[in-house]
Amino acid sequence: MRYLILSDIHANWEALEAVVEAAGAEGWDEAVCLGDIVGYGADPNRCCDWVRNNARHVIRGNHDKASVGLEDLEWFNPVAARACRWTQEQLTPESAEWLRHLPTGPKTTGENGGRFTISHGSPADEDQYVVSSDEAWQLIGYLEETVTFFGHTHLQGGFELQAGVRRMGPVAPEEDHARVATEAHTRYLINPGSIGQPRDGDPRAAWVLFEPGQNRITYRRVAYDVTRAQSKILAAGLPEVLAFRLAIGH
Ligand code: ZN
Repeated sequence: MRYLILSDIHANWEALEAVVEAAGAEGWDEAVCLGDIVGYGADPNRCCDWVRNNARHVIRGNHDKASVGLEDLEWFNPVAARACRWTQEQLTPESAEWLRHLPTGPKTTGENGGRFTISHGSPADEDQYVVSSDEAWQLIGYLEETVTFFGHTHLQGGFELQAGVRRMGPVAPEEDHARVATEAHTRYLINPGSIGQPRDGDPRAAWVLFEPGQNRITYRRVAYDVTRAQSKILAAGLPEVLAFRLAIGH
């Protein structure tokens, strides 16, 4: 089984389309989405449609909640709140209904022998950011399966945690197609990165290919038409910074 692990699409259709094309060329069986399908970008409905029709497992992110009024916007910075209000106005009734009923993570899925957990933020709290090794270590008690995928930070990479010897370290992708060979008795907290708004200094759309039968996780990136995504954001009257940051991946 080959899983496509997608996160933080943020209404960026050009980025999602490029990922779908690149991943399609490699082949995959099931797509999984870790939330934040909407928010920031100019194509919320198109992205909702693709995920709704193609992803087998989906959980909600904080922007998905906020875009249908399930989260108070006072927790959002002014730019995110403005983008959220714009998204609320654009959503079709069908998209809004689907977003409103997305399940809350964490959720465990996968077949026998290949089970894994997905969460938007931390597996302890869907809105919590996991950035440092210490933050990851605090979560070891929540990690029942060997592999947990999370998003929210828009940083591709992850953590390898082993109780007893307390081996702990970032599993950072240092090159394209970087791979993690998963081992039993170790816990992996893996962030596929963001498709629609990467913040790790690499503007290319990010995702992960997970092959539990091979004990293999592969980090992937693909360049997409940033200029087109930017012009749609500007034409929609969304904050300019949301267009600008796509070019620098920050
Ligand atoms: Zn996000």
